[in-house]
Amino acid sequence: MELLHKIEAKWQKAWEKAKIFESDPDPERKKCFVTFPYSYANGPVHVGHAFTATRVDAYARFKRMQGYNVLFPWAWHWTGTTIAGASERIKLGDKDFIRALREIDGVSEENLKKFVDPVYMASYYTNENRNTVHRAGFSIDWRREFQTTSPQFSRFVEWQYKRLREKGYVVKGTHPVVWCPHCKSPTGDHDRHEGEGVSPEEYTLMKFKYEDAYLPAATFRPETIYGVTNIWLHPDANYVKAKVNGEKWIISETAAHKLKEQKRKIIIIRRFKGKELIGKSVTNPIAEKQLPILPAWFVNPEHATGVVYSVPAHAPADWLALKDLKQNFASLREFGIEPSKVEAIQPISMIRVEGFGEHPAIEIVNQLGIKDQCDPKAEEATKLLYKKEFHSGFLKKVCGEYAGKTVREIKETLINDLRKKNVADSMYDLPQPVICRCLKPCIVKVLEGQWFLKYSDSEWKNRTKEALNRTTICPETASPWFFSTIDWLKDWPCARKSGLGTPLPWKKEWIIETLSDSTIYMAFYTINKHIKQHNITPEQLAPEVFDYIFYGKGSSDSVALKFKLNNQVLQSMRNEFLYWYPVDMRNSAKELIPNHLTFFLFQHAALFPPEHWPKMIGANGMLMIEGKPMSKSKGNFVTFRSTIDQYGADSTRCALLLGAEGMDDPDWRSENIRDAKNKLESFYRLAATIIAEARDEKTGQLEEWLLSVLQHRINVVTESMEVLKSRTAVENAFFEVWNDFRWYSRRKGNMKAKVLLEALNIWVRLLAPFMPHICEEIWDKMEEENFVSSTRWPKYDKSKVSAAAEESETLIKSALNDTISIIRATKITPKIICYYTAAQWKWKVYQKALATSLEKERVTQSDLMNELMKEEEMKKIAKKISKFIAQIIDENNRIELNRKETLLSIGMLNEAAVLREAENFLKRELNAEIQVYVEDDMRRYDPKKRAQLAKPFRPGIYIE
Ligand SMILES: [Zn+2]
Repeated sequence: MELLHKIEAKWQKAWEKAKIFESDPDPERKKCFVTFPYSYANGPVHVGHAFTATRVDAYARFKRMQGYNVLFPWAWHWTGTTIAGASERIKLGDKDFIRALREIDGVSEENLKKFVDPVYMASYYTNENRNTVHRAGFSIDWRREFQTTSPQFSRFVEWQYKRLREKGYVVKGTHPVVWCPHCKSPTGDHDRHEGEGVSPEEYTLMKFKYEDAYLPAATFRPETIYGVTNIWLHPDANYVKAKVNGEKWIISETAAHKLKEQKRKIIIIRRFKGKELIGKSVTNPIAEKQLPILPAWFVNPEHATGVVYSVPAHAPADWLALKDLKQNFASLREFGIEPSKVEAIQPISMIRVEGFGEHPAIEIVNQLGIKDQCDPKAEEATKLLYKKEFHSGFLKKVCGEYAGKTVREIKETLINDLRKKNVADSMYDLPQPVICRCLKPCIVKVLEGQWFLKYSDSEWKNRTKEALNRTTICPETASPWFFSTIDWLKDWPCARKSGLGTPLPWKKEWIIETLSDSTIYMAFYTINKHIKQHNITPEQLAPEVFDYIFYGKGSSDSVALKFKLNNQVLQSMRNEFLYWYPVDMRNSAKELIPNHLTFFLFQHAALFPPEHWPKMIGANGMLMIEGKPMSKSKGNFVTFRSTIDQYGADSTRCALLLGAEGMDDPDWRSENIRDAKNKLESFYRLAATIIAEARDEKTGQLEEWLLSVLQHRINVVTESMEVLKSRTAVENAFFEVWNDFRWYSRRKGNMKAKVLLEALNIWVRLLAPFMPHICEEIWDKMEEENFVSSTRWPKYDKSKVSAAAEESETLIKSALNDTISIIRATKITPKIICYYTAAQWKWKVYQKALATSLEKERVTQSDLMNELMKEEEMKKIAKKISKFIAQIIDENNRIELNRKETLLSIGMLNEAAVLREAENFLKRELNAEIQVYVEDDMRRYDPKKRAQLAKPFRPGIYIE
């Protein structure tokens, strides 16, 4: 086994044995309760999960080292159709899916056969994934583990739903839902193979009279009825004439099936192709005018009614289709349409919108250079124009009673008016396809007697917003997304008829769906330890027991007696809940903001008092694989286990954390993880060298410098971790500190100073949250006590900060870099290099400039000159001073305020002494003799008069 793997296994065993991640209430210590949304047990944990979970673990480890009593529990999501659906696909013999299980997940043939049982499949992956999570080195308290179909957890969910119902938050209602006709069930976000976040939309149908029937054309923009010029049908699509609630309609065949699910009574009279009606005319319902029915191939019969009315002045697609027809008389004749009839169609302008003339659709088509109705840019144009006209469009005179109003203000009124006149109707449809986990396409069903979480309730919304206001959102930019989700969330179907999960306690044939049973389960973690330890049965976990534990309702004596519980245990459960709650940090990928994370807030707001509402929520990006979204079917699926096998846990953790922070999407690249592994190994070797060699007690400016810069690193890493900026934290803890060590070694020429051990001690602790195993090993080699995982986080030590030491090293660094640039530019091979440090009077001027500019934002040359001329000795060299001020004044004004303060605190730096101390180093680096002079030293060697160029912190340089 390789070094890293060996180290990892060793410390995982040691941690487990010492139980350092098992956390119990301790009133003496501040607690920190962190959680990661449990993953579905329908497949292996992948690197996307790993990215999010590693951020949680790094935070947990960081807080633990800060002295918090940290609880990081773990559980498994079995609810819903993800597992049942996967099992179903095996039963049906889905070849691609089975191949992926075999090849990507490494499932044996024997197990594959047993996967037809969803419970077997779920427990298989639970075991596999537990092992992976363990091998990742996550600091989990496993005593609290559960899966969401366990009878004890089900009792908790039942309690939750009973209480929600009492508060009026679970209601029975009739609503349109996304529905799988195969599963005969509503299809929530996580029950979907495709189409997450898509919800039913209501279309307005405009009814155009044709003979004894109507053609109901679907639209989101009913106001455009005033600009209609014709009707579009797809000539090759299947249409039907049908009785819809007694009225005859002509619609696509698909639409007839969809409407059946929307509580309409449908009797199909006959079926025919769209071309049968092409060339015929309908009556405009608002103008009693005849309009032609024309062919258009952009019409999608699968969408809404398959009937579209045309508004060429304001809808780019309509204008394009009309233009196509006008250029293709032959095809018109095929349909028996007289070309002159089409020629005569003129766009009707009915909305005035700023930035456009009479016919916005035509203008935008020309602007974007859209070719025809098949051009994908047409959709973009449609959206753009719709938005513009909706928000800033005014209706023109042709719109009769609505003229002069904005589209936005009359839309609702107009729909109501038209409905009253029996001109308008409506239907629901999905704006984008939704595919169920069973791989069947979903439709909209208007469901009667379904159970909903009443997320539309305005009081509940307000309380949730209050909870959100009390929560720190990291990054803050995610906050508006939460607010808008709370605003737009409508009632949520919370139960389905298939899949695994907890039945609704009062209607057992309904199973609480996956996003609805996973909102407050963090509370269950706090007590599950006791449930397992004392074999508490589901029967004992009555609602009154949870009321006591979570609300303190009743007395423990009587509750314990009634349910045959140990009174002590019951009280411990109450105490444990009170100790750990609220959740201090929950972190997930940003895709869960519009559902899970917002539900988490809603339900806490509904069921708990404000002191138990979440403290902090983190969101992160979605992991890409080599620049593409991860997908099993596309073959770019990377399991967490495979990367741990190949590169080790610490390298994987490191590569993941370095991927991104905030809401940015990290990109997983194999070269990055290989690189991380190499870096970890050389870090390990460097640490071993320091441990073996650092014995020398002597310290000087360089040692002082190393400890000083480390203090700043401690600050940056600490501050970054507090707000989940995990990438900045790792970059600083690993690479920046490494650069400090590199500079030290380069300057010193060896790694023998004992102070390096002190520095390494800090470094290892800064890295422990990110690469815990290797840090534990080094910590052990340093003969430090305890585990690094449970030792104290490094504290910023002001007494170790030396601005003078830092400035001295900066001086050497810049002198070296300036010299190298000159050598490169002049191509000289240097024999002698002379440095001239600034004369004392220049330092005086420089410091006066700093001091004066502390009070004033901008110091002028004359301000400074006036200040300086107050001193007699300065007056004598007034001319020289004036010239020098001109050289430094602008640069000086640009220095940041706190840096000015630091520079002033150092006073005059003895630059000559600093450079002389570094003489050997510079000699080694530049391979030449080094001479150092103060600018006004009479004995200086200065053939090219470079000494006079010296400025404080910027010596003059001469190379020979
Ligand atoms: Zn289905």
